[in-house]
Amino acid sequence: MDNENLLNSIRDQSGETEFHLPLPAGYQLGSTKFVAVFGTVMSGLGKGIFSSSLAKCLQDKGLTVTPVKLEGYLNIDSGTLNPFRHGEVFVLDDGTECDMDLGTYERALAQDLNRLNFVTSGQIYRRVLDRERTGGYLGRDVQMIPHVTGEVKNHLRELAIASKADVVFVEIGGTVGDVENAHYIEAMRQLAFEEGQHSVCFVALTYVLEPSILGEQKSKAAQLGIRRLLECGVQPHIIACRAQAPVTRKVREKIALFSNVPPERVFSMHDCESVYLIPELLRGAGYDKAVMDWLELKPRVDEEAERAARERWSGYLTRLRNAERQVSIGITGKYTAVRDAYASILKALEHAGVYLGCKVQVCWVDTSELTDKSADQALRGIHGIIVPGAFGTRGAEGKIACLKHARTTRLPCLGICYGFQMAVIEFARNVCGMEDTNSTEIDNECRYPTISLLPEQKKIEGLGGTMRLGGFDIQIKPGTLASRMFGEKTRMRFRHRYEVDPRYLPQLTAGGMIFSGKSPRAEIMNILELPESLHPYYVGTQAHPELTSRPLTSQPFFLGLVHVALRRAYTDYDEPLAYAGEAAASADDENIAPPAESRCHTEM
Ligand code: GLN
Repeated sequence: MDNENLLNSIRDQSGETEFHLPLPAGYQLGSTKFVAVFGTVMSGLGKGIFSSSLAKCLQDKGLTVTPVKLEGYLNIDSGTLNPFRHGEVFVLDDGTECDMDLGTYERALAQDLNRLNFVTSGQIYRRVLDRERTGGYLGRDVQMIPHVTGEVKNHLRELAIASKADVVFVEIGGTVGDVENAHYIEAMRQLAFEEGQHSVCFVALTYVLEPSILGEQKSKAAQLGIRRLLECGVQPHIIACRAQAPVTRKVREKIALFSNVPPERVFSMHDCESVYLIPELLRGAGYDKAVMDWLELKPRVDEEAERAARERWSGYLTRLRNAERQVSIGITGKYTAVRDAYASILKALEHAGVYLGCKVQVCWVDTSELTDKSADQALRGIHGIIVPGAFGTRGAEGKIACLKHARTTRLPCLGICYGFQMAVIEFARNVCGMEDTNSTEIDNECRYPTISLLPEQKKIEGLGGTMRLGGFDIQIKPGTLASRMFGEKTRMRFRHRYEVDPRYLPQLTAGGMIFSGKSPRAEIMNILELPESLHPYYVGTQAHPELTSRPLTSQPFFLGLVHVALRRAYTDYDEPLAYAGEAAASADDENIAPPAESRCHTEM
């Protein structure tokens, strides 16, 4: 339906309507295609992984895609959420603090996302209430339907305009039946009606149980879950059945029978050894074709682009499968019981491992109780460590003990954010003779506060969205390891309140610490390293480099760590590693592009 027809059909002669249709300027109904993914039966099925893999299949065909996650909770963003409960807080380049699923999308699509790609009920309600306070509802009582749902659709259409996407992938958080997500499901039902036939494709992700006492797959829970979706007025076009093993034809037919979906559009989506195998699994099963057919997108396919994209991807998968060597990397943190708290670090390690042809085995080292002595023991047999980001005091001394062990035993080490700050403290205490030094986050009364609040943070009172957040440029010091990695400048994402206090830079650098990356316009230290004559790989960064590592563009800090760890693990390992910064510099010198294989930072 086009805008005029729809608007005419919903207004009576006086111009009154029960609909609430705030269309963003320039939006044309029916011009954008939407794929909406709903969860049924239970949460935790990997809806984000599924939806991002499906989006990748369409992106590979030359279509422009953009994802959006609709979160049920009332928080404005994920910034104040505890990683113990919710997994890591992902940070976008524009500073949005969001759900870790956005990381899954950025990695799968090799795309930088922004605040429009992340919606919470809190944001939607805030917009509705702001509109009400400014008289935006013209005397009407403000209701869930049509006003809250109208705001959800409005957001999706704003995203469609801003991204110019052919297809917007909408992931509805939670599970059908959750009260807090009901307005999203209702909004999607309305959207399908307003956008018109074949503009919106509904995909239900469900779960097929296989109780060990029965030894066979049972479809009842899936049937009931989809029935629940039908009750909301959403008729799925495609059903994806999550299960441990491939879902049998019989079970898929049964689900088809109970849900008005043709059996050829009820697919299996069973467990895979890596999430990066899922796009091929979906393609093999025919998901992409089903979506393209429903949305009538066939004429927009670029077959040449698809062939090239699949070839690049299959190169990654071949390396993933054929990795022969193995290294152990320790993650020394306090959230080690909840792996999701370090999701992006794990992925960044996997990317580096695949690039270097090895498997990275992660060893979790809980620093809450560690001392110098027990750190030596805990790190035995490990080939490298990552000291990750954190907040508060717990586990700090254990991290410092690990850093001391790494520095003094030449164990490859990467400190991230809080880990970078702890590396400065360890160095100040044990090399520069400042025994009573700390971060003011931990001890406000210490004699040498080498890590203290950023100047702009001193005036801030609230908690949400108030840190130094998002992507910032980093200027690199020539002649350092960082310059080999990045060239003259780079950009990374940040999320912190504290920094190296510039007053202590003379002592730290006199002791031998090199600050090889800093902010171009402020004295904020971003990267530290020890000279390679003293240590094979001791680096730290105030940023979060794990957030921008992608399968085909592994992040140099992780590449460097795994590469040097390999040398420690295998005495016969002498593969060279050319960093992107070096490749770029030599290209400048000789005025020719370096061969593609010598780049570790190839674009997807
Ligand atoms: N707590 C530290 C700060 O605010 C480090 C934060 C982090 O590791 N993300 O600066």
